[in-house]
Amino acid sequence: MSEPGITPSFQRTLHGDASRQQDTPSLTTLVSDLVAEARALPVSGKVANYIPALAEVDPNRVALAMATIDGQVVGAGEADHRFSIQSLSKIFGLTMAMNRVGDSLWKRVNMEPSGQSFNSIVQLEWEHGIPRNPFINAGAILVADVLNSHYSSSKQALLRFVRQLALCESIYADDKVYRSEKQTGNRNAALAYLMKSFGNIESDVTAALDHYFYQCALALSCKEMAKALSFLANRGVHPFSGQQVCSRRDAHRINAILSTSGMYNQSGEFAFTVGLPAKSGVGGGIVAIVPGYGVIAAYSPRLNDFGNSVQAMHMITRMAEELGLSVF
Ligand code: GLU
Repeated sequence: MSEPGITPSFQRTLHGDASRQQDTPSLTTLVSDLVAEARALPVSGKVANYIPALAEVDPNRVALAMATIDGQVVGAGEADHRFSIQSLSKIFGLTMAMNRVGDSLWKRVNMEPSGQSFNSIVQLEWEHGIPRNPFINAGAILVADVLNSHYSSSKQALLRFVRQLALCESIYADDKVYRSEKQTGNRNAALAYLMKSFGNIESDVTAALDHYFYQCALALSCKEMAKALSFLANRGVHPFSGQQVCSRRDAHRINAILSTSGMYNQSGEFAFTVGLPAKSGVGGGIVAIVPGYGVIAAYSPRLNDFGNSVQAMHMITRMAEELGLSVF
């Protein structure tokens, strides 16, 4: 089999430069080079420790993978190592909820950037229990509530969905992380009870939280994450299975909210410098969607002051630069 290359039509469309394809190293080489580059960076950032089980991970792990819509999956570093996906899971929950309840979801959660920390309580009080967007904690707990009230076992349904998307039946939620967050998730509980007080949580608060903690505890590798989200780069159709995961319109909409709200309070800077819809998680993972091309997934546990992985940001930024990937 030949080395995975960079989709020529994509490069031509984007740059109007067919010759670029010949000068570009293969995707495999690029991904390996970027992992080496990230490993050589001066150590900076801190592993999240407010969820005790997350503090125990090896801070030196570095992984990068890309899945393209023409069916290639390339990875380097520890691209098969499963890590706690945390907030990356909010994309799975949101997709399921959009599929299940349609546009009525947007009466209960907005699609605006928050400009506040991901677990802020004050904004939710001012705005009468309507979360700013589905990617901050309050919004994702609201989505968890929707799933909990529409599935007899929402955790099982979510796990089935993610396994199907990642094409892997052994994906699981890490029990230690799940319990650890359940024991210490008082701020998330506060957000959920506040929304309940405004009448914006339908099911039992503890059940909605239970789904949320379980979702955050899912463990996937970079290769699995990239494959699982590849439908967002392909107008809602999973390029590996052919399954229509969500409508084309909803794929566009999820990418739009990722662009404005996926990278915590660094979302504006990320759009400015990288220019891709992306989501970050406190476990150290970042996924970036390249519409019409594929999905990049990067992982390394040390986080910057915004809560974004330092090395994962570096690798995605460099990849976007090298390949000219900005959607803007
Ligand atoms: N489970 C984490 C929390 O609720 C997710 C945060 C994140 O990754 O942004 O705090």
